[in-house]
Amino acid sequence: AAFRAALRGGGEFRAEYRLRADGRWLRVVARGEYLGGRAVAFRGIALEVTARRRIQEALERSEARLRRVQEIGRVGGFDIDLRTGENQRSAEYMAVQGHPAVARSEGHRDWVSRLHPGDRERAERHFLDCVRDGAGVRDYAQEYRIVTPSGEVRWIAARAVVERDAEGRALRMEGAHLDVTELRAARDALAESEARFRALAESRAAELEQARAEVRQGERLAALGQLTGGVAHDFVNWLQVMMSGLALLEREGLDAPLREQVLDGMHQAAAAAQEVCGRLLAFARRQPLSPESFDLRARLLDMAALLRRSLGPGITLVVEVPEALPRAFADPGPLEAAVMNLVVNARDAMPEGGTLTLRAWSEGARVCLAVADTGAGMSEEVRLRAFEPFFTTKPEGVGTGLGLAQVFGFAQQSGGAVTIESAPGQGTVVTVALPADQTVA
Ligand code: ADP
Ligand code: MG
Repeated sequence: AAFRAALRGGGEFRAEYRLRADGRWLRVVARGEYLGGRAVAFRGIALEVTARRRIQEALERSEARLRRVQEIGRVGGFDIDLRTGENQRSAEYMAVQGHPAVARSEGHRDWVSRLHPGDRERAERHFLDCVRDGAGVRDYAQEYRIVTPSGEVRWIAARAVVERDAEGRALRMEGAHLDVTELRAARDALAESEARFRALAESRAAELEQARAEVRQGERLAALGQLTGGVAHDFVNWLQVMMSGLALLEREGLDAPLREQVLDGMHQAAAAAQEVCGRLLAFARRQPLSPESFDLRARLLDMAALLRRSLGPGITLVVEVPEALPRAFADPGPLEAAVMNLVVNARDAMPEGGTLTLRAWSEGARVCLAVADTGAGMSEEVRLRAFEPFFTTKPEGVGTGLGLAQVFGFAQQSGGAVTIESAPGQGTVVTVALPADQTVA
């Protein structure tokens, strides 16, 4: 239309339009030349615009994307020419600061003016230290608070790179700053809740420990009560025998046989009291022990010969003691008493008969012996309390509850150990470990 109008003498011709040629778009800029009011020539240039357009569009798209990413991430960019002081900021930089877009400024004064008074000096000093000529610093990073015009305080994490020339003069500082207000709030909340949780856990642990200590104390007291009661009960009986005996002996005219009988009873009571005292001392690990090197195998075989006769026909005795058993280092007297205690327990556990095995073996620096039976076994409750002095499941007059207490005290005091493996109906194995005599090979 413009061309036709120009031909008709409608004045000047100037036009820009797109023209398709060979599948490409050309942009044409043309103008007409007139002579005496008549159009004489049209000249123009055609530019290929397709590629440029595409590049332009791609650039616009990527810039938009960058802006959006900056917006989403609340990342602001800045670029300072340190020679001229010219300071360029991205849109997001200004948005985060909550200020009207001062996209360009001289120097860093306006930045300083926005800093929180509490952080102002430190943040500015750090900035100046980094951009000083010859400072040699390349990476700049710090966190500080700013105050927006509406009075809101925001935390900013700033990072930048300082570009320098060969002489070390600072030329440019290019960087980004990030709004980390929420991040810091979350971090603070997390730290606070962690601290609260830790305090809670600590106080719970203390409470638990307290409760456990109370339970332990309660158990100790119960055991102590049982011990005291047991000792007192037995001693009251023996003292009774003693005192009534003394009363009888003080009487005049007591005939000889009765006198004999009374004295006999008193002797028995005294012996029983002495026995209990001995076992209690053993349990308390306060018995006088004279450890020595002795042939454990020979001792066990001697005892086995004795036991074979006393166990009765219902019980089969099996002895498994290797010839090469090392000598033991312990007091052999209380050891024999301990083995006897274990054998008596095994026998008591097998009223219908069974097999009693006496076993010994060498284990490192120790020599072990075990008494195993095929009897009733123990419940876990009984097993855990079996070493307690005066703990017995046997009827009065049968059990004293001091057998295993003696074994335990002896093993401990000798530098060894004792363990019980047992389950109801599964029989019992009690193992005593003693130091082997190290002086003989
Ligand atoms: P006592 O034999 O006088 O009861 P002990 O200290 O020797 O005292 O044993 C304590 C308790 O341990 C016994 O009453 C019994 O319940 C249990 N016990 C010990 N040895 C055995 C065993 N070989 N089999 C089953 N129970 C046992
Ligand atoms: Mg016993």
